[in-house]
Amino acid sequence: MNFSINPSANPLPADKRQEILSNPGFGTNFTDHMAMVKYTAGTGWHDAHITARAPITIDPATAVLHYAQEIFEGMKAYKLADGTMALFRPDANAARFNRSARRLAMPELPEEIFLESIRKLVDIDRDWFPDVEGGSIYLRPFMFASEAFLGVRPSNEYLYMVIASPAGGYFKSGAPAIKIWVSQHYSRAAPGGTGAAKCGGNYAASLIAQQEASAHGCDQVVFLDAAEHKWVEELGGMNLFFLLEGGHMITPPTSGTILEGITRKSIIQLARDQGLIVEEKPYSISEWRDDAQSGKLVECFACGTAAVVTPVGTVASEEGEFTIGAGGPGQITQQLRRQLVNIQRGLAEDRYGWVQ
Ligand code: PMP
Repeated sequence: MNFSINPSANPLPADKRQEILSNPGFGTNFTDHMAMVKYTAGTGWHDAHITARAPITIDPATAVLHYAQEIFEGMKAYKLADGTMALFRPDANAARFNRSARRLAMPELPEEIFLESIRKLVDIDRDWFPDVEGGSIYLRPFMFASEAFLGVRPSNEYLYMVIASPAGGYFKSGAPAIKIWVSQHYSRAAPGGTGAAKCGGNYAASLIAQQEASAHGCDQVVFLDAAEHKWVEELGGMNLFFLLEGGHMITPPTSGTILEGITRKSIIQLARDQGLIVEEKPYSISEWRDDAQSGKLVECFACGTAAVVTPVGTVASEEGEFTIGAGGPGQITQQLRRQLVNIQRGLAEDRYGWVQ
């Protein structure tokens, strides 16, 4: 499918753009363009274009506003030393987008349209890359039910779009290790639910638990399984890894209630290839506490596109707190983070063919 390209007539002036790029923050500034493709039942995907980023007008009866039929992705573009822009495993995002689409009874988007929309947008907005530590262009592909009707059924029309945002580091405090809150009253996902899909509704449902975490002085919330409230699942936007003594790593299995993180998948491969034993198996909240207190658990980290790899120092709940290791960033955590970042930024050999 060919994207028609209509460059913005009013891009942000270079001096204003530079001001943003010197301190980009996360998710609050946007590039000059966006990608858009329409879907109509019976016709399929059509009208692919790149255009000036602008508000869109939708009818008040638009299905997404009522029934939340919406999915999204999150990925980053980096600038390599030779000035080329690079994407990290974008095919994995395209595949996950379609798994989410199937779960939400939405049409799948051909992988090539997904990849082309991203390549074209990064290309036209490449001057938005922030040259700051950890800088990237964060890409947000998303799709929503755009038909105007009231009634609980899949929409006959969808809009797929991509917007882009210059990004610095993710955590405001820039803290070396985060403190996380165990949500004992709220669940994120249940068996048979939408936990493995990246749909907006999952995040809406997680906000109250995140508020509870903030109220207790924590950076993030960790969710337990919905049935037994026993097994550790994931954070609101990141997967978890536990490092036990002897080079033994555990991460919760992706059995339908957690998101299959692309960072998670990459870390598993990097860790195994350097001789660590990685098991995808359930790990309980009581094992977590006991292993931290006995010293068997030496490190713990969360991972995801936005924050890459973030050490977890302290875990708090209504029953009190426990600290992992010395409460700071662990050695293996830092090493895995560096390895991944170096591949993403073209500073280390891309043995796996992850960078495009
Ligand atoms: N879990 C959830 C709930 C997420 O939203 C994300 C971010 N996409 C992740 C895990 C990490 O996934 P990835 O490594 O692909 O960014």
